[in-house]
Amino acid sequence: MAEEIKKVLVANRGEIAVRVIRGCQEMGIATAAVFSEADATALHTRLADEAYPIGPSPATESYLVIDNIIEAAKAAKADAVHPGYGFLAENAEFSQAVADAGMIFIGPRPDDIRAMGDKIKARELTIGAGVPAVPGYEASPRKGRKKKGSAELIDELRQAAKEIGFPVLIKATAGGGGKGMRIVDGAGKFLDLAQAAMREAQAAFGNPTIYLEKYLQAPRHIEVQVLGDGEGNAVHVGERECSVQRRHQKIIEETPSPAIDDDVRARITSAAVKLAGAIKYLGAGTVEFLYVGEGEFYFLEMNTRLQVEHPVTEMVYGVDLVREQIRIAEGRGFSFYKCPESRGHSIECRIYAEDADAGFLPAVGTVELLDVPGGNGIRDDSSLFEGQVISEYYDPLLAKLVVWAEDRARAITKMDWALSRYHVLGVTTNIAFLRRVIRHPGFTAGDYDTHFLENRMDEFESEAELPPVEMIAAAAILAETPVNAVVSSEQDAGHNGPWATGGAWRQLECGN
Ligand code: ADP
Repeated sequence: MAEEIKKVLVANRGEIAVRVIRGCQEMGIATAAVFSEADATALHTRLADEAYPIGPSPATESYLVIDNIIEAAKAAKADAVHPGYGFLAENAEFSQAVADAGMIFIGPRPDDIRAMGDKIKARELTIGAGVPAVPGYEASPRKGRKKKGSAELIDELRQAAKEIGFPVLIKATAGGGGKGMRIVDGAGKFLDLAQAAMREAQAAFGNPTIYLEKYLQAPRHIEVQVLGDGEGNAVHVGERECSVQRRHQKIIEETPSPAIDDDVRARITSAAVKLAGAIKYLGAGTVEFLYVGEGEFYFLEMNTRLQVEHPVTEMVYGVDLVREQIRIAEGRGFSFYKCPESRGHSIECRIYAEDADAGFLPAVGTVELLDVPGGNGIRDDSSLFEGQVISEYYDPLLAKLVVWAEDRARAITKMDWALSRYHVLGVTTNIAFLRRVIRHPGFTAGDYDTHFLENRMDEFESEAELPPVEMIAAAAILAETPVNAVVSSEQDAGHNGPWATGGAWRQLECGN
């Protein structure tokens, strides 16, 4: 039964709180923000129609305290709560607490969050839905065994690892943010690495359970945006390519993926829809896959929330995912029952407060000056403002710069221009690093996997010379032209570093 939402409390901060507040306001829905002490003057606090203090600066005393947020939602007389991403977005207890307080949770049901938050359970559901998961092994009591001590569990997993074949990846059942993961390339190191993974998982998630996956050597991370109405109807909104990662964290995302053709696209998106339909998923979610080439992909995990990189989908498919989330929460279903036509290409760069030249240390400071690019097809999802104090309390993500253009080559050129015009003085950011990555021949050729950054880090250092803009445009266009395209020697003249004749350029000559 449809129930109109008139006021939403946004249980988050930073750019995503700003994004959701704006989305609600556009729809004529009133908004309430919550803020910690450090965020008393934050953009989301000021932008919302009302704002409620929820405690001291550390997130564990404010944004993560369910009772404080429910109290604020009640005080605001909100009909619904939007969790954003991170913090309590994938916390089943929170989703339940919102429902218990008589409000609508703009997100999935507690059971979906619980099932997909447990990687072992998620794998079982996926395999049950007929979707391939990464080959792996989990020692579960459901296989007729009693609960084991950690030594016994590790021993069993080590035996299984030999059967799967090294290298294997130890993963935490409750994992997230790359925590509790260890690559093991031989039986000798298994015990130490398994113990370390269990300790890390216990500290991060309060649950030490680990399992194994075959370690795929050079996969690409390709994910599918889905919407489900809770009754078994699901629709996809295309894929996103997220293989530019550092320590398993995405930095640059794009759609469409340069790695797949229409046939693979049709198969990967229908696998995601199949899973969402099979579990009668409710809300917006993302089904993540590892793509190993030759049309083969495996389920990785499902994120039961709005994803950081959702804007690239919005740019290319012309949809508003927050609006769809609200429609679904109201019981009105989606505004389309078939994936909308895609148009052009979109890229997102995550702008972080961090020092790329000093081991990516998080940076703090006061934003003295802010000058951001604008124009056709440029979107800045940000919570930045001049005078803002960037503290050490929260995630260092400051803004997401998103561009749209008719094709990938033009999107890269536009992103390069937009990054060159994005100035944040007073706080060190990774903007120059992002520019070096998107200008790299591997990126412009679309020829990258999840190890792209770590394998070539020295090529992104500040000493590495940037190729001139005509060269990146030429490389991006070449990547879209037929095989055997050759880069002429004149184009390389006078350049040193990774962009010099030979080296990475040669990849283009080999045909992409
Ligand atoms: P988390 O939930 O901690 O973020 P994920 O399961 O989503 O962990 O994996 C994060 C990243 O780790 C992936 O995008 C991929 O780069 C890498 N990864 C995960 N599983 C595998 C695997 N089996 N083989 C190779 N790389 C993997």
